[in-house]
Amino acid sequence: MIRGTRVLLPALLVLAVPAHLTADETPARFAEHFHGRTLRAELFHSGDARSERFVLDRIVAEGSWGGSRVHLAPPFDRGRYRFELRNPATGEVLFRRGFDDIFGEYRTTGPARKGAVRTWTESIRFPEPVKPVRLVIEVRRPDLSFTLLFETTVDPTDPGIVRDPLPADVRVPARILGGDPHDSLDLAILGEGYTAGQEDLFRRDFEKAARTLLEQEPFRSLRGHINLYAVLRPSQESGCDEPQRGVWRRTALGCHFFSLGSPRYLLTDDDRALREVASVVPYDLAIVMVDHDRYGGGGIYGQYSVFTAHNRWAGYLLVHELGHALAGLADEYYSSSVAYTDLYPPGVEPAEPNITALLDPARLKWRDLLTPGVPIPTPWSRKAFDRIDGAYQKRRQALNRKIAEAMKAGEDAKAAALRAEAERLAVLEAERVHQLLSKDRWAGAVGAFEGAGYAAHGLYRPQVDCIMFSKGLKPFCAVCRRAIRATIGLYREDADSTGAAAGERR
Ligand SMILES: [Zn+2]
Repeated sequence: MIRGTRVLLPALLVLAVPAHLTADETPARFAEHFHGRTLRAELFHSGDARSERFVLDRIVAEGSWGGSRVHLAPPFDRGRYRFELRNPATGEVLFRRGFDDIFGEYRTTGPARKGAVRTWTESIRFPEPVKPVRLVIEVRRPDLSFTLLFETTVDPTDPGIVRDPLPADVRVPARILGGDPHDSLDLAILGEGYTAGQEDLFRRDFEKAARTLLEQEPFRSLRGHINLYAVLRPSQESGCDEPQRGVWRRTALGCHFFSLGSPRYLLTDDDRALREVASVVPYDLAIVMVDHDRYGGGGIYGQYSVFTAHNRWAGYLLVHELGHALAGLADEYYSSSVAYTDLYPPGVEPAEPNITALLDPARLKWRDLLTPGVPIPTPWSRKAFDRIDGAYQKRRQALNRKIAEAMKAGEDAKAAALRAEAERLAVLEAERVHQLLSKDRWAGAVGAFEGAGYAAHGLYRPQVDCIMFSKGLKPFCAVCRRAIRATIGLYREDADSTGAAAGERR
């Protein structure tokens, strides 16, 4: 996810701080610079394909800081943007995190290229500083380096910081605790479209989601460092918005299908509602679980993920979208239609850890994981795959159009029959793909397989199959597992920058 960009602020302000400066990694060092609370900067992110800008809306104090007191500035950068807290006198970097956002995706769509300016609201969260700090937001350049986009001063004594009590109408009906929040990844699973009368259903769905997640590697072996919270603000109505089908629901988090014009893309544009609900627990990342039976979801790195709880693919959606939101993983598939037109410009190495443009095979970013003797690029059964998948995509799109027409016309029985047919096809397709890929000559091997990141050619994925590539509750590939392990390591006080504690290195 790299974007060429034109910044709005003078380029002279860039690189005021040497990149190698980081905070010392000890809890005592943390206490020198930070209080034990969380601050949230709510931002507007506006522009089109040519220009973009951040504007600060307000700063809000949340509850206690549940993030790491040790890994304050990670050694790897993922995401299109990153923010830093810097000592205003010395320029020392006190805290740093990478992230993506909806606006960053919007920039790559047709309307943005035609100059349609839009705004999204979003948040970044950090520990409350003891003294005033500079808050700096940077964006990637095509060569993957960062350039300044926004800066302001955050003064903890500023009376303008909103310090409202936490909301009283948000409930936490269940939690599954693996360890101390400072030493664990804290995931808030937020209910969306569950009414007050559906709290039992929400709790059951939460427990099912937790089981699914904690059975999947690498979460399974790290469960002692993962906390899961069930968080619910009851919705007035069940479900969520389906604009393309003329369905509108008043819900707690404002989630809707058809984000950026893509039918299955399910996100919320109401960041403030999401943050307020999540703020009742010490969370590192929010997962929105939607009371809906339609296939849909989304995941934005460093922000949140969304999945629908009541369809056959719920487990897959939960894990796949969390891969995006938690570890900044790229989609490894290339055949489904998406809204982006130039997310990965040709000839540029993607920033994500699990896809590559293979510009220099000798320096492949996962070369240490390669299976001995594997050819690069790695041949695979793509002709057979493209034949199966091409036929399926065509039939699915035609069915989706018919479903939308039937729903708009109020023909519920017809829509239900068409949905059942679409579901039958999807199951058949997943089974065929699994059969084909599991018999591939290089099945299970780590190599470089062409076809990834929405591009049939020019981008490569690490294994022939992965939950970031094809549909179904299947394992992450070795490269994705390592990236997730390293991310969870950022929340552990006993782990190094690869996510491994002593005795766990491999
Ligand atoms: Zn993968």
